[in-house]
Amino acid sequence: MSHYSNSYYTATMRYASPRQTLTGNVQADVCVIGGGLAGLSTAWELVSKGRSVVLLEAARVAWGASGRNGGFVLQGWSEGLSSIERRCGTETARALFKLSLEGVDIVRETIDQHQLQGCAPTSGKLTVLRYDDGNNLQRLRDRMAKDFNFEMEYLDTHAIRARLNTERYFHGLRDSHGFHFHPLNYCLGVAELIEAKGGVLYENSPMIRVESQGDRHHVVTQRGVVDCGNVVHCCGGYGGPEFGRLRRAFLPIATYVVLTEHLGDRLRDAIRTTDAVGDNRRASDYYRLVDGDRLLWGGHITTRNVQDEKRLANMLTDDILNVFPQLRGLQIEKAWSGLMGYARHKMPHIGTLGPGLWACTSFGGHGMNTAPIGARVVAEAICGESDRYRLFDAYGLEWNGGPFGPAAAQTVYTGLKLMDMFQEARSTRRAAKH
Ligand SMILES: Cc1cc2nc3c(=O)[nH]c(=O)nc-3n(C[C@H](O)[C@H](O)[C@H](O)COP(=O)(O)OP(=O)(O)OC[C@H]3O[C@@H](n4cnc5c(N)ncnc54)[C@H](O)[C@@H]3O)c2cc1C
Repeated sequence: MSHYSNSYYTATMRYASPRQTLTGNVQADVCVIGGGLAGLSTAWELVSKGRSVVLLEAARVAWGASGRNGGFVLQGWSEGLSSIERRCGTETARALFKLSLEGVDIVRETIDQHQLQGCAPTSGKLTVLRYDDGNNLQRLRDRMAKDFNFEMEYLDTHAIRARLNTERYFHGLRDSHGFHFHPLNYCLGVAELIEAKGGVLYENSPMIRVESQGDRHHVVTQRGVVDCGNVVHCCGGYGGPEFGRLRRAFLPIATYVVLTEHLGDRLRDAIRTTDAVGDNRRASDYYRLVDGDRLLWGGHITTRNVQDEKRLANMLTDDILNVFPQLRGLQIEKAWSGLMGYARHKMPHIGTLGPGLWACTSFGGHGMNTAPIGARVVAEAICGESDRYRLFDAYGLEWNGGPFGPAAAQTVYTGLKLMDMFQEARSTRRAAKH
């Protein structure tokens, strides 16, 4: 029996009744493999359209990245818009950006319409700049408004430091469309919605293999089989060799979050906003207040999953004190890790793998809006309602580099981190001269 990790989210989760393990043969229109946000959203879209759905989860509902992430629900994708534009052209980039906004709206509307408990949605995200280049940030704001019809508010040094009491930050952009929330409670709420519409969720039921015969597929687990017309693969960063060529197209990348003790007025003096915050570095810090006076802080990516809580706590405490030295002495109460699936092109795998076989996965570090919209376009395709999934045609199953993939990813990451440090040091030197 799998257990949830020890995180802030599991300490504050709503009751989650354990689901049965699949035994014997069952039939469904669609079998969804993986019970993270991608799988749950796919199942929810499909049952809402009247399809019968069986979902297989290897562990527990939202046991993977979806139940342990930063909880930021923001526009955009893991890949930057400029790169998307270069690869797909302006029109497709605009259409993909619009989809990413629809993904944010799906989550907000689902919480509102179904009164999902314990999700605590809180509006606002600040993107902060750790070096003094406000002109560039204003140009970005203008371009987002002009090319993508997306408004953000520019905050100068005075305004940003009124909200965040640190000399590390120089400028910021505020996104009032994005929000942050409790991702595990959201997923548990969606799981109940699926069941209320007749969908069936099995836990502790990993798919071992998929056997296809004509237009029928048999999804095989250790003790049962799902006989279905369509299969949707939603394994995130946790899928193993049973996913075949899909597994060879993504890299599992680990990332980390800590939760501090209650810090009272010390924290409220350092962080005077309920907005979520992230800097714009390639390897960024991201954080938000929870329970009024605790800091939930995330950062770092590695190809080896560090699980030593003490080491994680030290690593992220250094990051916190680098920005807010006035919090010296803070205690970390929880530290946890999670895996994200990253394709080499940093966009998700959304599309067909063969007749009746679908991928809706590899959402990287930006899945809270993209998994729900990925799920929607796949569900529309299965039901013959739209071909919006074709917007992802340029992002196929590129090889992840095999045994050299992790080393290459870590090298690239270290290189990017050096670029961040270089840019920041140059700006600090410039500021000292003036
Ligand atoms: C620490 C951390 C912080 C993050 N912060 C943010 C954030 O603030 N905002 C944001 O947008 N994104 C964030 N992300 C990324 C986001 O969490 C992911 O992109 C998203 O959760 C992916 O959802 P998923 O359903 O594809 O994968 P997962 O949630 O990982 O779910 C995949 C599921 O598939 C199951 N599975 C695997 N193999 C099998 C099998 N053989 N049979 C059956 N089931 C199987 C797994 O057990 C797992 O439950 C973060 C990720 C991490 C790890």
